[in-house]
Amino acid sequence: MNRRAPSAFRAIARRAGGAFPRAGIAAAFLLLVVSAAQAQHAGQSAKQPADASGCPVAPVAESVDPDWVGRYLADDALEGRLAGSPGEHCAGAFIARQFELLGLEPAGDDGTFFQALPLASSINPHAPSGTGRNVAALLRGHDPDRQNEVVVVGAHYDHLGRGPFGSLEPESGKVHNGADDNASGVAALLEAADLLASGPRPARSILFLAFTGEEFGLLGSNHYVNHPTLPLERTVAMLNLDMVGRLRDGGLIVYGVDTATEWEELVAAAAAHEGVKVAFNGSGYGPSDHTSFYAQDIPVLHFFTNVHSDYHKPSDDWSAIDTAGLYHVAAVVADIAGRVAERSARLTLQRTEAPPPPRGEGGYGAYLGTVPDFAPVDFGVRLSGVRAGSPAEQAGMRKGDVLIGLDGQEIADLYAFTDALRAHAPGDTVGIVVLRDGEEVSLVAVLGSRGEPQ
Ligand SMILES: [Zn+2]
Repeated sequence: MNRRAPSAFRAIARRAGGAFPRAGIAAAFLLLVVSAAQAQHAGQSAKQPADASGCPVAPVAESVDPDWVGRYLADDALEGRLAGSPGEHCAGAFIARQFELLGLEPAGDDGTFFQALPLASSINPHAPSGTGRNVAALLRGHDPDRQNEVVVVGAHYDHLGRGPFGSLEPESGKVHNGADDNASGVAALLEAADLLASGPRPARSILFLAFTGEEFGLLGSNHYVNHPTLPLERTVAMLNLDMVGRLRDGGLIVYGVDTATEWEELVAAAAAHEGVKVAFNGSGYGPSDHTSFYAQDIPVLHFFTNVHSDYHKPSDDWSAIDTAGLYHVAAVVADIAGRVAERSARLTLQRTEAPPPPRGEGGYGAYLGTVPDFAPVDFGVRLSGVRAGSPAEQAGMRKGDVLIGLDGQEIADLYAFTDALRAHAPGDTVGIVVLRDGEEVSLVAVLGSRGEPQ
């Protein structure tokens, strides 16, 4: 970990003057950790010291540390960071303070780090009313000709609150801490920002964006591309970190490598340099914020360490995060962002796939009512259950089934499943193939609508 030392020293130098009482900080951090541990036992939020805006007191440090960034964001005290909630507000304020600590320029509304957006959404009738905030900060490039071009590095910081929307344990009513989804991505984003801010300044600028409202249908990134801080014509690439906290379990998966001709080589070199095992997927459309940018003809990458059985459940806690792995992911992303910001020519956009069909009224097209298990399987999507009264239940699908085919299409993984559902409208009749105890079983389902009460 001596790789950390230079950047920490630089950060200390930036703060020369030592305005912060260290003993007090240590005590506050200890309290946070202790109360978090108690909260975990109690299964609910514990009383914590609050600052003037009612947010849990954050540990103050001389440099950004991904481990305590994640611990703060994924603490029960933030109540699962539901878009528009007090917990989201505190998380956003905390992220802005980290940007400030790194010496980055505010890049939100009116000289602030925040970009406010209405959450009530035609994309998703379940989205709350009220206002959420994206958090934006700029590392300005040094080249007068290219500093108006920008590489975006993004990660969403909202999560599911206590559900039920989006939860795979919707009846639990418990705080969903979203440690991997996506406190991990924000922690890696801030670490990448630290690495880039403390290295040689690249020619182009780098914009760091922490999005809200991702869980309700990419609301924050969608708002950003409609109200960009810097023109989209001058946005040369977008790197998205969403769920990067489990590197040790199987390496790094990088989506979007077909969206620019140069990506595969750049990513392979960065991963090899960092000693990270990497798997490629070409698609630039997926269920996260990079989709908003690829839809605007911007080359994208999505970094991901795969789904798991805690996905969208109250058990997605920081204790399961591979924090050493976060540094590696951040280093890979910083390397790629720095090279794209420095290279003389822009990347070469590739449009290799049609955009997904327009979404149905409910935001995600047709509805089947399966509860995916999210533990990786070799092929297909294993079900941990089906929702009562759903099309899946009526078709005879069961817990333990592995879905491998839908309407003649092979379902290799969750992404293929999402794509297949999006390609259909509510009311369509589709053939379903599942593996049950090793045997292929064919079923027929009539798809419902996501917007229906479930
Ligand atoms: Zn999520």
